[in-house]
Amino acid sequence: MSKEITSREADYSQWYNDLVLKGGLADYSAVRGCMVIKPYGFTLWENMRDQLDRMFKETGHVNAYFPLFIPKSFLSKEAAHVEGFAKECAVVTHYRLKNDPNGGGVVVDPDAKLEEELIVRPTSETIIWNTYKDWIQSYRDLPLLINQWANVVRWEMRTRLFLRTAEFLWQEGHTAHATKEEAVEETEKMLDVYARFVEEYMAVPVIKGVKTPSERFAGAEDTYCIEALMQDGKALQAGTSHFLGQNFARAFDVKFLTKENKLEYVWATSWGVSTRLIGALVMAHSDDQGLILPPKIAPLQVVIVPIYKGDEQKALIGEKVDEIIKELKALGISVKYDDSDNARPGWKFAEYEMKGVPVRIAIGARDLENKVAEVARRDTKEKQTLPLENLAGQVKNLLDEIQMNMFNKAKSYRDSHITEVNDWAEFERLLDEKGGFLAAHWDGTAETEEAIKEKTKATIRCIPLDNKQEAGTCILTGKPSTQRVLFARAY
Ligand code: AMP
Repeated sequence: MSKEITSREADYSQWYNDLVLKGGLADYSAVRGCMVIKPYGFTLWENMRDQLDRMFKETGHVNAYFPLFIPKSFLSKEAAHVEGFAKECAVVTHYRLKNDPNGGGVVVDPDAKLEEELIVRPTSETIIWNTYKDWIQSYRDLPLLINQWANVVRWEMRTRLFLRTAEFLWQEGHTAHATKEEAVEETEKMLDVYARFVEEYMAVPVIKGVKTPSERFAGAEDTYCIEALMQDGKALQAGTSHFLGQNFARAFDVKFLTKENKLEYVWATSWGVSTRLIGALVMAHSDDQGLILPPKIAPLQVVIVPIYKGDEQKALIGEKVDEIIKELKALGISVKYDDSDNARPGWKFAEYEMKGVPVRIAIGARDLENKVAEVARRDTKEKQTLPLENLAGQVKNLLDEIQMNMFNKAKSYRDSHITEVNDWAEFERLLDEKGGFLAAHWDGTAETEEAIKEKTKATIRCIPLDNKQEAGTCILTGKPSTQRVLFARAY
């Protein structure tokens, strides 16, 4: 059967691809590194996007849209920024094609060369700060709290569906502030919004922290992040929030008149999450039968499958199901009634399991007589017989319970995969045998960080925000250290 899924045990990475492709989330495309997001996957993204958008608006942000293209000279204005992004930029050099006079089909018209090349945005700080220059004159114009939903392009060499693609969808917040304190507060506030979204809606626990200088966003003074753990023990950066200092204000000469009538550079932040979150969702929860999606963002929360012989039974069940659907919808629950004749119930069950629909209700003629239905939950695969009386209310409770159970399960896995390590041999052994986050002392130098990465492929995922200070010695060099940091192999 083509729907067969590779098990996690056999090949984790193939298991992941199987789920994304066979679960109907996305397809490979004709363009290397770019994917097609299919309707089921896109609905999932819309649900995530809508909730995040609500949270951004609740915290005072508004949406706007800036151009896809960035003049090359803009990108070069902030030295660290261009240095960081130069290696993965797609560049537009021409604006016209023409028929090849030698019969070779359509070719780039050499006469249509752009005077200045355009970069397809890898991120929009530069084009946005060039605009903010016109929008910000005085302290009355601040803070400016803007978000953009967009696609960006980073010419990644090693791509993976959702987790790392050359083109991806995301949101990018770009805010401007009068003081450093306000900008830092905004950076931390948006990290909290991300953490709350990922934990409460995606049911994935995260660790909030700051990146080391070598893992910082190009052009940032500080990069805050949320880190999640996948079921194979590898970490995934799920979101970032950057304190940009006055770097972009200086590069684009954005100054404002303070209340005291002084001209000062504006303080900035930027923050983003992308379609990578869908990859995180798949890898954190799903099993060998398919996707397991958290009810709060699942494209479809409930599916109802009738079990019948003949049209008469089908009609009777259909009548009752209409009532149930009305009740479910009244409670804001999304539901599909699959009474198609072209597949047997068992096949349908497997299909909706594969797609991770949180709750499946099966109703047969006998059930109807007994006024009950069989209700199966996707997360634990448990089935129970429930009375039809107030079925919708019971299903609502079950959805809440599934959401909570998924978070608790992911959290207990994550918590049991944070290990304190004090010895190098143990560090290497744990990375190979157990994975997860290793809390170890580090001497604070980029050289040691790089050496550890070379030796083990593990990177410093973050310095947790709630870290306690504790004297120790670096796991590699033995030099003194004041705190543990979290190492992991990561996607
Ligand atoms: P950054 O602008 O580098 O801080 O990234 C913002 C967000 O986009 C982070 O949450 C990253 O995890 C995510 N991201 C970065 N590169 C990619 C990529 N190639 N594909 C999907 N998501 C990405």
